Amino acid sequence: MHTWDELNSFILHCGGCPLAQTRRLPVVGKGDRHAAVMMIAEAPGAQEDIEGLPFVGPAGKMLDRLLAGAGLSRSDVYLTNIVKCRPPGNRDPHEEEKNSCMPYLRYEAYLLRPQIIVCLGRVAAQRIISADYRITRQHGTWIRRKNCDLTAVYHPSAVLRDPSKLEAAQLDFIKIAEHLRKLLSEKPDVPERP
Ligand code: SF4
Repeated sequence: MHTWDELNSFILHCGGCPLAQTRRLPVVGKGDRHAAVMMIAEAPGAQEDIEGLPFVGPAGKMLDRLLAGAGLSRSDVYLTNIVKCRPPGNRDPHEEEKNSCMPYLRYEAYLLRPQIIVCLGRVAAQRIISADYRITRQHGTWIRRKNCDLTAVYHPSAVLRDPSKLEAAQLDFIKIAEHLRKLLSEKPDVPERP
């Protein structure tokens, strides 16, 4: 694989794990392919499975609201998932499914070279940041790894299920936007591949 088109073609024809048997459409990443911010959720949901696009259901509307509240929009970020196919019934993806799909995520990061990675929710944070990540305690905190800054926020679906998380999510998105503006105002440097 050398290009976005090749990557997406692999994903669209992938039978690499059992989710290929139950999905309708694989969901490839979407957004600005030169974005400094890569947002990673765990897996597509029901509406995403139908349309083949990330964050098109109610969670997508909440994501748009959180981005807008921070002065951002989808055109400022690249959105993707750890597994590209919907787990049945929206269950968490199994470990072997995540393992099978991780090469695609790594290649997306290789092509994008993000300066900021935002994990959307516990499952993504536990895969990308650390296995013992506690989203309720650690959301909004930052770590630096290989010239890339990583953080995690509540998944927009979690905010929909529990509106008491909205204010914290809004503040975290504002901090992400501030961090992005600071990075972009500094001398640009090409980060290593995460
Ligand atoms: S989830 Fe990933 S590894 Fe599994 S079939 Fe879909 S694209 Fe392939």
